[in-house]
Amino acid sequence: VKKKAGQYEKQARPVKQAAVLGAGIMGGGIAYQSASRGTPILMKDIKEDAIELGLKESRKLFAKQVERGKLTTEQMAEKLTNIRPTLSYGDFGNVDLVVEAVVENPGVKDAVLTEVEGLVGEETILTSNTSTISITRLAQNLSRPENFCGMHFFNPVHRMPLVEVIRGEKTGDAAVAATVAYARAMGKTPIVVNDCPGFLVNRVLFPYFGGFSQLVEQGADFQRVDKVMEKFGWPMGPAYLLDVVGMDTAVHAGEVMAEGFPERMASMAGGNGKSAIQLMVENERLGQKNDKGFYAYE
Ligand code: NAD
Repeated sequence: VKKKAGQYEKQARPVKQAAVLGAGIMGGGIAYQSASRGTPILMKDIKEDAIELGLKESRKLFAKQVERGKLTTEQMAEKLTNIRPTLSYGDFGNVDLVVEAVVENPGVKDAVLTEVEGLVGEETILTSNTSTISITRLAQNLSRPENFCGMHFFNPVHRMPLVEVIRGEKTGDAAVAATVAYARAMGKTPIVVNDCPGFLVNRVLFPYFGGFSQLVEQGADFQRVDKVMEKFGWPMGPAYLLDVVGMDTAVHAGEVMAEGFPERMASMAGGNGKSAIQLMVENERLGQKNDKGFYAYE
């Protein structure tokens, strides 16, 4: 972290209209958060049913606010109109900032980012919510890489306060400033970090998962480890957190981290055999996403 997020904010162009590409777990959450804090957002996907799911989730979250007396039904209806679902790029001409949140596949992300860059204004900021792909690498095919940076939210978006704003090699200050300001307008806490495998949070988190995996391989009871870490003061232990993250996602991110920092990630690669987390994937215990991970969910 070189410059504090607040130092960028002074030069920010305000984001009056945002857009998110992808209406999945993250895209839907980002649309809800933006709408809830008052910034209109276009939510684009390629599948009608994905858009329906994204909207359904937002309606559910707004309804909870009504139940808790934090919103009236009229306010809820008004906030919902801030989300504009779409299957086309028709209205992208006056968007100030785009968050790309499509599937974690470099080829798909490249295609989507170059496509949208050709349709938005010259000053529009493009960002990516990628967890593992280098921001410098994603900027390679863009004609205005200075207008591009990472905007990494955590799942679930409405509950997790932190947003990593990632500077690629060619990212300009205006892109960082607008992204920091938008994160704050969404009620989040942005931090500005340089581009590297795992950015900041996963760089700390994955060696921890590796240490946990090694303990389990050596015979530790995962439930006891969770209880110990809770007593230590963490809101949840590593086994439960891995169930939330998803075992397949963790293995994939672990591989990216191991490439960047082999000395730190050896424990997660499992030495000569397979790591406990890799074995979980082989046994189709992916976590909460398929109702069975370290724990069982119904
Ligand atoms: P997801 O599979 O739930 O959603 C992806 C959505 O993108 C789908 O609805 C899909 O139809 C849509 N899509 C695919 N191609 C598209 C295109 N060309 N245009 C528009 N939409 C398109 O995935 P997710 O979990 O929401 O992850 C999205 C991104 O966020 C990934 O880069 C992931 O690494 C990152 N991320 C995920 C998490 C997490 O915990 N799930 C956390 C942080 C970051």
